[in-house]
Amino acid sequence: MNSTQVVVIGGGPGGYAAAYLASDLSKQVTLVNLDKNPGGVCLYKGCIPSKALLHVAKLLNETEDAKKWGIEFAKPKIDLDKLRNWKNGIVDKLTGGVGLVGKQRKINFIQGKASFTSSSKLTIEKKDGETEELEFEKAIIATGSQIATIPSLDIKSKRVLNSTTALDLPAIPKSLLVIGGGYIGLELGSVYQALGSKVSVVEMTSGLLPGADRDLVNFLAKKIKEKYDKVMLNSKVTEMKEVKNGVSVKIEGKEGKVTEEVYDYVLMSIGRKPDTSGLGLDKTSVKVNQRGWIVVNKQMQTDDPNIFAIGDIAGEPMLAHKASHEGRVAAEVIAGHKSAFDPLAIPAVVFTDPEIAWAGITENQAKEKGINYEVAKFPWAASGRALTLDRNDGVTKLIVDPESQRLLGIGICGPGAGELIAEGVLAIEMGANLTDLKLTIHPHPTLSETIMEASEAFFGQSTHMYKPKRK
Ligand SMILES: Cc1cc2nc3c(=O)[nH]c(=O)nc-3n(C[C@H](O)[C@H](O)[C@H](O)COP(=O)(O)OP(=O)(O)OC[C@H]3O[C@@H](n4cnc5c(N)ncnc54)[C@H](O)[C@@H]3O)c2cc1C
Repeated sequence: MNSTQVVVIGGGPGGYAAAYLASDLSKQVTLVNLDKNPGGVCLYKGCIPSKALLHVAKLLNETEDAKKWGIEFAKPKIDLDKLRNWKNGIVDKLTGGVGLVGKQRKINFIQGKASFTSSSKLTIEKKDGETEELEFEKAIIATGSQIATIPSLDIKSKRVLNSTTALDLPAIPKSLLVIGGGYIGLELGSVYQALGSKVSVVEMTSGLLPGADRDLVNFLAKKIKEKYDKVMLNSKVTEMKEVKNGVSVKIEGKEGKVTEEVYDYVLMSIGRKPDTSGLGLDKTSVKVNQRGWIVVNKQMQTDDPNIFAIGDIAGEPMLAHKASHEGRVAAEVIAGHKSAFDPLAIPAVVFTDPEIAWAGITENQAKEKGINYEVAKFPWAASGRALTLDRNDGVTKLIVDPESQRLLGIGICGPGAGELIAEGVLAIEMGANLTDLKLTIHPHPTLSETIMEASEAFFGQSTHMYKPKRK
């Protein structure tokens, strides 16, 4: 039987980060993955292909906006095959590159499906049809999450897309209904809207992006209302059936009123879920909680001393950067370091137009937890850089501890929010207070100044906004 010091099951951003660091820390590593290269959902059918298409959407939107500035382009011609190939090329380049740096590290990469036969042994059904038994000292489970479905609405129609098939760009639907107003649905909805589809969204709760701060979401909601055909809140899909040239969808609104409409395509985007079936966890002491996630401690150890779990399979937030950091902690713990996954802030970014990003504590969380806080805001309408981009539809919002004046949380809405948020994350992790932020010289004219000016606003001293501090 073959043996390895560390086996990592699943080659997503969590798994390959863990495998590569374990190797850098002198461990002999085997990485088992279903796909031919590492990358996981994020590189193959998540973060990367969606952001490539969102880049195209941004370009298309800007050519529309340019009309206001006296510049008019001809109606864009979209070659869907070429666009798909470009996007697939990015995925191939990135997954190939990630695979290559694994080979350079001499990691034993096996394409196949692994399941435990005990707390120290695995069986791997390899892609080539062979089965390999592997003995390990430590294992890291990094098998990610799956697309959630509603069984009663699972009508097996090619016109009902999920996030994976939507990224394959099967067509530019004349009309598209997005079921679910979460970040994946809104990102993909905005891609199709920019490509020319008439997009509607139906969301069960009272607002888009449930859980996110309304001060941030309001700008996005306004833009979506302008661009989309319909936004149906407090509403749920009760029935779907394929009809000639489309999908007929019944939607129940707030007062129980049911409407029926035919859409060219439907995108079902109601979330993601953990799935540990087929992993053979019953042969180990690994425990799974009621919602299906593997239970881990801050060292990413499961209840089985030999087995760690990281990434989407180990709980929310299901984000690639959280997976990678957990992976690196597991690798360090296995290498004997005193490590723990204990972040003060995990950034979340919604790559819509405008973008929304936040990190640390939100205002609602502060309220719910009874934490004493103050809010400082800087509207982008007062930012020179935002005006030069013709984008005053944004805000930078800080949640501050009034005693220590430390930054507890940050939320940003506006183009580039996903890049800007990193400064806030660093400030929270470093324990920066608002004096640190306001005294840090930010380059002009940039959107990063909105963080400095929001900090100045906390003291009632923002240069570009008159709002004296209440005594
Ligand atoms: C459309 C979309 C857009 C997204 N955009 C973003 C974004 O912008 N930013 C962000 O942070 N997150 C984003 N995410 C979420 C992100 O993709 C996940 O949080 C991330 O991929 C989780 O990483 P992971 O390593 O836990 O697992 P995954 O990336 O899910 O990788 C797990 C891997 O394990 C393999 N595997 C499963 N079982 C086995 C087995 N038994 N044996 C061997 N291999 C196995 C799977 O095939 C898969 O390759 C997006 C997701 C989607 C769907």
